[in-house]
Amino acid sequence: MMFPKPNHKKQRSQHKSNPRLDGSDTCEICDIRIATETHELRGGKGYRLICQELGFVLKLCRHCHDDWHLYYTKDKKNYIRADKQRQVMTECGMTEEGFRERIGKSWL
Ligand SMILES: [Zn+2]
Ligand SMILES: [Zn+2]
Repeated sequence: MMFPKPNHKKQRSQHKSNPRLDGSDTCEICDIRIATETHELRGGKGYRLICQELGFVLKLCRHCHDDWHLYYTKDKKNYIRADKQRQVMTECGMTEEGFRERIGKSWL
């Protein structure tokens, strides 16, 4: 008796890692390990997507991501946010006002 060949179509896994992280980026904080996750620099409801759209995110390794949430002081976080804000404004040709309109805040 013949059995139909099993269908080996691969199921795409549903974990929600950011598709832009393909293992080729190094962590933006330690600059050593491979970035495996992203952290949106503007928290709060509704800002996740806009952060991703503008690139107002950090690509981090697990270690630094944990450190960010567990140990970083507010000052340190805001310093990094300001740095990233400048980068986004340059890349998008945006003024500080324009940035504030999208993200709702400015760290400069
Ligand atoms: Zn790192
Ligand atoms: Zn995070």
